[in-house]
Amino acid sequence: MKKYNPYQNMISILEDSAKMLGLQEDEYSFLKYPEREIKVSLPIRMDDGSVKHFEGFRVQHCSICGPYKGGIRYHQSVDLDEVKALSAWMSFKCAVADIPFGGAKGGIKVDPSQLSQKELERLTRKYITMIEPVIGPHVDIPAPDVNTNAQIMAWMMDTYSHIQGYRTGAVITGKPVELGGSLGRAEATGRGVMIIACRMMDHLGRSYQDTRVAIQGFGNVGGIAAKLLYEQGCKIVAVSDVSGGLYCANGLKIDEIRAFLGDHPGKMLEDYHKEGVKHISNDQLICCDTDFLIPAALENQITAENAEKIQAKVIVEGANGPTTVEADSILQDKGIIAVPDILANAGGVVVSYFEWVQNLQSYYWSLDEVNTRLKDVMDAAFDRVFESAEKYDTSLRKGAYILAIGKIVEAQKKLGLFP
Ligand code: GLU
Repeated sequence: MKKYNPYQNMISILEDSAKMLGLQEDEYSFLKYPEREIKVSLPIRMDDGSVKHFEGFRVQHCSICGPYKGGIRYHQSVDLDEVKALSAWMSFKCAVADIPFGGAKGGIKVDPSQLSQKELERLTRKYITMIEPVIGPHVDIPAPDVNTNAQIMAWMMDTYSHIQGYRTGAVITGKPVELGGSLGRAEATGRGVMIIACRMMDHLGRSYQDTRVAIQGFGNVGGIAAKLLYEQGCKIVAVSDVSGGLYCANGLKIDEIRAFLGDHPGKMLEDYHKEGVKHISNDQLICCDTDFLIPAALENQITAENAEKIQAKVIVEGANGPTTVEADSILQDKGIIAVPDILANAGGVVVSYFEWVQNLQSYYWSLDEVNTRLKDVMDAAFDRVFESAEKYDTSLRKGAYILAIGKIVEAQKKLGLFP
């Protein structure tokens, strides 16, 4: 399969959108170059006594609108170009959501399923020790991403706090609630995806009950989006994880599937069997007969190779960068609406922002308050992106980029170029 470079993907949309906005190269070129890129070596003592070396990254893309913000992923395919693209998308996402952060991203090239908990903890603590000089509650605030979770955030926050000599909660978001994490943070990205998908259904005048949804990825984003859309009454016809997918034209029982996985730790969707439920591949899921498609796994899932065969009418990007540039223009030609990642999956970083605010104030909100505020922020972002797309007579993706780039470039002009 062709190797896509997500950084080139990002640059290409950036260039197009900046041109539509009428910007000169000098005015926006800074967005093509991350402010700081860090690569760290992580030698780890494995449980069998041997030493293994891992590679870690932290890329700080832009701090014009506030401290750097963005998650850390643990995945075998992590590399510098991927982290650079992801860091830029964080800058744009925070601008679209209108929260006072810049963008960053981090990652370790590792398959965490191959490590014991103790090895994972040592790797995490080593990584934070190595990037400690460039993070902090007012500098750069990491959070969870693919294959990282609240437990890993707890080790990160603890390691940073030990180095400072005092508890520093606000340096990491997505922490366990017992350690200052926000209520609702774990569900926030999936909840944001649900809010945006429902807004699209409202916009198109579709009832939730008559809308069929296929979701790629059944983790923190896809699994939660599936649960919440199912609760809204949508017909979830297909879901998948790395093991493969399930399809049922009449709608899957998402509560049963989630209960099955919850009751059988280590089992995957391929282990779920039920009459009327067909087992399908991830590629079949992308092209299945559905109204809405929600890619909520990794980048580059919708490509020039499969875009032609997509049957969905609307794509809501739960993952970061799931659609390649070539695929995006095929979708547009086919009249398929793509709701871009920098809007659709912003729920996670929005509640990260709430968590950071709560930590700085040591004053904590109820779940209801978090969810109400999240809905307000997502709704406002949705409206702004629609307005921008309409104003420039373009796609929602370009509309979102134009909005984000316009905001950051304006802020940059007010700051001026130092020195
Ligand atoms: N990893 C999430 C994202 O891609 C959340 C980042 C954050 O909360 O800082 O948006």
